[in-house]
Amino acid sequence: MQERLVYLDHGATSPLREEVLEAMLPFLKERYGNPSSLHSPGRVIRQAVEEAREKTALALGAEPDEIFFTSGGTESNNIAIRGAARARRSKGHLITTSIEHHAVLDVCKGLAEDGFSVTYLPVDRYGLVSLEMVEKALRPDTFMISIMMANNEVGTIEPVAEIGALARERGVLFHTDAVQAVGQIPLDLRELKIDLLTLSAHKFNGPKGVGALYVRRGTPVAPLYDGGGQEKALRPGTENVPGIVGLARALELAVEELPEKTRHLLALRRRLIEGLLAMDDTVLNGHPTARLPGNVNVSFNYIEGEALLLGLDLEGIAASSGSACTAGSPEPSHVLLAMGLGHQLARGSLRLTLGRENSDACLDHLFSVLPPLVERLRKMSALYPGQS
Ligand SMILES: *Cc1c(COP(=O)(O)O)cnc(C)c1O
Repeated sequence: MQERLVYLDHGATSPLREEVLEAMLPFLKERYGNPSSLHSPGRVIRQAVEEAREKTALALGAEPDEIFFTSGGTESNNIAIRGAARARRSKGHLITTSIEHHAVLDVCKGLAEDGFSVTYLPVDRYGLVSLEMVEKALRPDTFMISIMMANNEVGTIEPVAEIGALARERGVLFHTDAVQAVGQIPLDLRELKIDLLTLSAHKFNGPKGVGALYVRRGTPVAPLYDGGGQEKALRPGTENVPGIVGLARALELAVEELPEKTRHLLALRRRLIEGLLAMDDTVLNGHPTARLPGNVNVSFNYIEGEALLLGLDLEGIAASSGSACTAGSPEPSHVLLAMGLGHQLARGSLRLTLGRENSDACLDHLFSVLPPLVERLRKMSALYPGQS
């Protein structure tokens, strides 16, 4: 009998919830109007989009007119950073970190090619950015700080409340890539000093290809595309209506169930970390406590993460080494290297990201497969001192 799939890669994407699919279905079938049309089938759809905007705003502690729907986290990051740069009359300086997702790092690289200057802040061994470092990096021409709320590889939660307060005090825009944080940890934009925030639906059991950018009222951002007035011309193009409706429903459910889900994930995470660290030559990557409830990242010395992944896959376990976006490339994770791991440990990393449908039975299966697999791979490794 085929083993049931044990999915431990929620940091890459998460399954669409039944309730979310239900909410989306009418907009994939009979409710097909264009929200920009003046006739009644169009007006009904406009109303659905605006209700989704209200729900999204409510879940974040924002106002509906501060929510802009996009095609996902990557596009939101591009609009936030490139759009803020475009809205300026002169070049300037931007502060980010060396552990951002490529959807931030590559935008910064592009801006540097266009004549902006960029500071990539280092992190400590837990992946934490220090407020003092941010403060020291500020220059008279700094116009933006972009620092993620939680890291996608190691789950470290960054001090965005403090960084935001500093940015606001200095008159610098603060953008945060919160794709891993929204729907996973509590977050209230009425309390945080954030100007731009990125989120993506498929990371919290919503559909793929839809996200949002929160833009605080009065924040100067220019569109990257021309072509229409949708989303107040910041993101023109006919709206992904089923996606938008699904995003709002998924976020509403995630926020509603957050305390319960957090308890569930923390219990699983504790068992997972304890079990992994009981294995020889294994280290935990990321912060012991300031980390996402569903994130576990470990390095096994003397083995290749890729080999481990393939071995797990054969046993019906889906995990990740480094971030999914760089999988297949032989380079070790830029995040782990920035945290000071040597190449060997960085290459032996395994990321297990938990979700609401995971249970102790998933971990039972993992622990029946992983220790013998690690042992087998180490016996094959020339680096392993225990090799006979
Ligand atoms: C997944 C992810 C993204 C990209 O989001 P998409 O919606 O897949 O484009 C960006 N940033 C972080 C931190 C992510 O985890």
